[in-house]
Amino acid sequence: MTQLKDARSGVVTPEMVKVAEYEQVNVDWLREQMACGRVVIPANRRHARLVPCGIGEGLQVKVNSNIGTSSDRAIPEEELEKLRVSIEAGADTVMDLSTGEDIDGSRKSILAESTVAIGTVPIYQAIVETVEEKGALIYLDSDKIFEVIEKQARDGVDFITVHCGLTSAALELLKNQGRITNIVSRGGSFLATWMLHHGRENPFYAEYDRLLEIAEKYDVTLSLGDGLRPGCLADATDRAQIHELMTLGDLTRRAWEKDVQVMIEGPGHVPLDQIETNIILQKKMCNHAPFYVLGPLVTDIAAGYDHVACAIGGALAGAAGADYLCYVTPAEHLCLPSVSDVREGVVVTKIAAHAADIAKGNKPAIERDRQMAVARRNLDWETQMKLAIDPKKARGYREQNPPEEDDVCTMCGKYCAIKQVKEYFRN
Ligand code: SF4
Repeated sequence: MTQLKDARSGVVTPEMVKVAEYEQVNVDWLREQMACGRVVIPANRRHARLVPCGIGEGLQVKVNSNIGTSSDRAIPEEELEKLRVSIEAGADTVMDLSTGEDIDGSRKSILAESTVAIGTVPIYQAIVETVEEKGALIYLDSDKIFEVIEKQARDGVDFITVHCGLTSAALELLKNQGRITNIVSRGGSFLATWMLHHGRENPFYAEYDRLLEIAEKYDVTLSLGDGLRPGCLADATDRAQIHELMTLGDLTRRAWEKDVQVMIEGPGHVPLDQIETNIILQKKMCNHAPFYVLGPLVTDIAAGYDHVACAIGGALAGAAGADYLCYVTPAEHLCLPSVSDVREGVVVTKIAAHAADIAKGNKPAIERDRQMAVARRNLDWETQMKLAIDPKKARGYREQNPPEEDDVCTMCGKYCAIKQVKEYFRN
């Protein structure tokens, strides 16, 4: 039984009740949104500590944080700290992208501690173990892929990225058309290498029904990955990307037929003026399945500040209809992020998501800003701290720079504009 199957059968699950309460929406409306695939609740039955979160149309835009070891830096305790910091900073989900030592151990400890939905990219573990056991990724076989998927599902993973739409036909388009950055998705590059070496179809695509069986059994939500997402502005919205998206639309329908929850992953690097087009295309081609954008980064030259480039694109994407934003940290394109990079990435992406919620008319989001405005007018610093997206940082600035008069701040001091005119206005 999956959340989707329950929704279609008219059953309101405890997860739906919790999500409806959090979002301040009617639970029957939520169930209907889920029944037609517009909302997912990634909630593996085996993830014991999960507090469920809904993703999709009519709900607040959600934020994902990526953590996980790499082959060059594998300190599991540091990744657990990134998990804690992500949740504390407001991440709605976390993806464990570990490729370092003991991937099983890292995932299990993350799942045991996490109260938010955990996602993975199982092809990473399948490739790492194939390289360890057989010496090269070309020796990967599909049994290995599905073994890893089932193992991760059994452990309680709530959603998995699977690059099912990266077909031989899409690769052919990419080769013929040409690109500057070819393939920048790690999972996409593994699969493309294997497919081009063997001249065979993508196993995720060829054996899609096998994947659906596992997803249905554990209620693992499929995040249909964009292995051919553009890695630079010049490659955005090209034939290969759109071909993959069209395939994902078809695979969405097939998943829904088996009661499997689905969301769609999207670009990547996209110029501002193409973001809305990308959202319209995804929603249209994938029957309004939730859209999970990886950025999008609106410029290629923001190294060191890519979280800002991502927030600009994320805000516009969210306002145009994207449902879920994958964060980017200041370390993007440069190195594995530190704990503080992770925190910074989550907060900046939460600002983008919140700005999008306001633009879409989300009432709780609008109300929070209204309350902040009132607190500012009243020079009510305690309420301002509580409502701030990052109270820790806001409080830190104020405490480090105490004003001479308590009710103002050191920006204008005794010439505080708000205080100056207060007595002349009604409010
Ligand atoms: S001192 Fe200036 S910046 Fe600070 S609260 Fe007053 S008007 Fe705002």
